[in-house]
Amino acid sequence: MANTGYNPFENAQAQFDGVAETIGLDSSMREFLRQPMKEFHFTIPVKMDDGTTKTFKGFRIRHNDARGSGKGGIRFHPEETADTVRALSMWMTWKCAVADIPLGGGKGGIICDPRIMSAGEQERLCRGYVRALSENIGPFCDVPAPDVMSNNRHMLWMLDEYETIVGNRFPGMITGKPVGMGGSLGRTEATGYGVIYTLKDLLRCMNIPASETTASFQGFGNVAEYAARMYTELGGKVTAVSCWDNIEKTSYTFRKVFGCDISELAGIKDKFGSIDKDKALALGYEVLPGDAWLKQDVDILIPAALENQITPAVFGDISSKVKIICEAANGPTTPDCDPLIKGRGIIMLPDFLCNAGGVTCSYFEQVQCNMNYFWDKDEVLEKLERKMTEAFRAVYDLAQEKGVYMRDAAYMIAIKRVAEAVRLRGWVT
Ligand code: GLU
Repeated sequence: MANTGYNPFENAQAQFDGVAETIGLDSSMREFLRQPMKEFHFTIPVKMDDGTTKTFKGFRIRHNDARGSGKGGIRFHPEETADTVRALSMWMTWKCAVADIPLGGGKGGIICDPRIMSAGEQERLCRGYVRALSENIGPFCDVPAPDVMSNNRHMLWMLDEYETIVGNRFPGMITGKPVGMGGSLGRTEATGYGVIYTLKDLLRCMNIPASETTASFQGFGNVAEYAARMYTELGGKVTAVSCWDNIEKTSYTFRKVFGCDISELAGIKDKFGSIDKDKALALGYEVLPGDAWLKQDVDILIPAALENQITPAVFGDISSKVKIICEAANGPTTPDCDPLIKGRGIIMLPDFLCNAGGVTCSYFEQVQCNMNYFWDKDEVLEKLERKMTEAFRAVYDLAQEKGVYMRDAAYMIAIKRVAEAVRLRGWVT
């Protein structure tokens, strides 16, 4: 989707193939796991407010459901592609496996730009998406959630359409719903908080107090905002945040070397994560080019936007001070950049481990919906932190034991778990 010339599905397959080789996965299992099990590509005709009908293109791709129903978000983006959704569905399989939740991997996408659509048009698009897919999504089949530019309101429209079609209440059909309408407390914060729970664990292992570190973020959507909030609560200093400017169609980096005030920045962003440039200038932020976030003299880089952002072409811009890259986004680093990162001794917290907090909380949301009993926020966050720490510990210990990069260790754990489920079911022997 991000127009860098990289194909995310090829990246996802390259990462998988490398680890499959290392762990000696047999060829029939490799063949099965390196591609999605099911794909749905369809059109969604939507009546627009001006009376015309516009046809949108939708996707839902289920990579693997051996460990449980497919699970994963629905992205709304004008440059969405089937290959991006394929890659992301595959990463969801590994994410659920490494977090050790009983779910598989799926992902959806619609080629659209919700920033220029009215609420009514968005509602009709959401309902059309579910009408096209109603037999192939559901609580025991494949469970969507919010993702890039989709939100809890969209999820509720989708649930309502699904329940209207099937004629009953199935709140576990979708997650990321509004609180009070089947949503879980803590779900909004969960992905960002989860990123920082794993970062906190890593810093502890490295004997570095969070309060002595600085970080630069790419993106200021939901994930980045809550990650930045929790990181600053731990005493860390965010010196730069970059984000897309929806009016000028370019990105900018907002910098305050003595530390950004995250609540202040959140107060001047729109609902898609674009920070108001004039207001930021008035508040004393430096406004730098979009790629400046990567060039900062910080300890930690946190890409929290889109895929294919850290490539060999920009690797040279990364300061020698950077010790950790924490992948809050899905697929922000290209596989050809991993050797350069390893070579420089930068520690990588890989995406499908560090951003697994969102789907883990989605799993809790389903559990609460099934019980029809909802936990308070402290209970949700306490369970979330425990799950993230367990996942981190398993990956970190394996990486130490085998002397491998944490991404490879996370893949080893996830692939083994999924392959085991596939074998136990007798799909591939
Ligand atoms: N979209 C999020 C992710 O990429 C969450 C998925 C979910 O909750 O199902 O992990």
